[in-house]
Amino acid sequence: MSLITESKELLPINIGGEMRLGGGDESATLYPATGEVVARLRAPSLADVDEAIARADQAFRTSGWAQRKPHERAAVLYRVASLIRERAEPLAQRQRLDNGKPITETRNLVASAAGTFQFFASACETLEETITPSRGDFMTMSVYEPMGVVAAITPWNSPIASEAQKVAPALAAGNAVVIKPAEATPLMALELAAICEEAGVPKGLISVLPGRGSVIGDAITKHPLVKRVSFTGGTSTGKHIAHIAADKMMPVSLELGGKSATMVLDDADLDHAVNGVLYGIFSSSGEACIAGSRLFVARKLYGEFMERLATRTAALRVGDPADERTQMGPLITARHRESVERYVELGLSEGANLRTGGVRPQGAVYERGYYYAPTILEGIKNTDQICQQEIFGPVLVAMPFDNEDDLLAQANDSLYALAAGIWTRDYKRAWRIGRAVQAGTVWINTYKQFSISTPFGGWRDSGLGREKGRLGILQYMEQKSLYWGLNEQPLAWAN
Ligand code: NAD
Repeated sequence: MSLITESKELLPINIGGEMRLGGGDESATLYPATGEVVARLRAPSLADVDEAIARADQAFRTSGWAQRKPHERAAVLYRVASLIRERAEPLAQRQRLDNGKPITETRNLVASAAGTFQFFASACETLEETITPSRGDFMTMSVYEPMGVVAAITPWNSPIASEAQKVAPALAAGNAVVIKPAEATPLMALELAAICEEAGVPKGLISVLPGRGSVIGDAITKHPLVKRVSFTGGTSTGKHIAHIAADKMMPVSLELGGKSATMVLDDADLDHAVNGVLYGIFSSSGEACIAGSRLFVARKLYGEFMERLATRTAALRVGDPADERTQMGPLITARHRESVERYVELGLSEGANLRTGGVRPQGAVYERGYYYAPTILEGIKNTDQICQQEIFGPVLVAMPFDNEDDLLAQANDSLYALAAGIWTRDYKRAWRIGRAVQAGTVWINTYKQFSISTPFGGWRDSGLGREKGRLGILQYMEQKSLYWGLNEQPLAWAN
């Protein structure tokens, strides 16, 4: 595996198991820290999309993958996990080039992808089909079947981990998978598909179709042979996909945006809370759906807490993603940085005070990359647009609150409901607020921690459906009920 492709050489993509150049537009993926070309490729044409899906359907029907015993499919997925671990370092380095995250983070993402394959291998071989209580002279069973071709559409912020989260359960369930990675980060999906084939997933069962979402993603979603879409990305794209799915009567899962509330109560352990808030918003440069981007601090602590937070924010190590000490790398593209800058301007126009950041950092290291300083805005109301819209960058909005009712009213006043964080020493308050806050995931005295065995997803505009968890595999299966007649006599009605 080479780390940087010759800039003029076009990278083949995986069309139905065949590695070849796509027939669509040429594009380049850039290293966000320097703007250098990492790889060039040509997106698939619409004919390539049709071909890949037809081949996936054929592989689903004829390769025998779906018919393999669960422990046999699991053995292949365990091999995928091992191969990812064997190549962890080159994969993490390639991922760093693909999306500019610090190397310490990309190592975690690669490890997470391996863990996901291992987990769904074991979910696959231990999945139970049940005999349900019968109400007559028959035995009733609930069983699960694979769906056929399923699509995994992913964003650019956590490649390989988000792809693994969809591909592993989809394959474990016996399906074929078409991966549509984000335009900016096509490389890790290609690596992952190659590893799956090397581990023994039949050729053609996986395709990787990078390219423009509105063209390639749309064509995949609308394709009649695609039986399910698992989507992670922005809320407006998710709603568009949901409309298409409604027309096709196709199940979808939608992991969408967030504007998650972090709440620091007046009895919080401040050392823990400061570290947790910093990590929650500024790790991954804030390019995380679960970023704790709306901060509420008990009024009596507000001054002291914000002083500590702002000082520590200004001291974060922003810089070269290859440096193991770096805490924040660049943003994904120049365009995305401009979008973050526009949001900060919006906040200022709404009357926000800039506590720290709000600029592109200066210095030789930053000259060519898409860097933006970690930023805190204060003096705004939760109803302001800057507090309601997802920025998806290193920008925190901070507000004081007066009491629990006030806190909950503000925290829940958002279209999004993906995650929340609570910092308190009082477990009863944590329980009360943890149950009352509307969010798919609530962290108490910690933040942005994940376990593949725990379901993940959002409420309201943050999404539909759940990923992860042992039963995550069922999202990629159709349930079927079997009735086994045990009558000694023919059914009486016809007599
Ligand atoms: P995006 O919605 O622009 O793109 C996501 C993916 O969808 C990309 O592969 C894109 O090419 C594709 N796409 C775009 N238009 C499409 C269409 N019409 N039909 C089908 N596919 C289409 O999102 P993004 O900018 O890549 O990612 C950022 C967003 O993702 C943020 O809102 C973030 O919160 C969200 N996100 C959510 C989670 C989660 O688990 N909830 C995780 C990561 C990111």
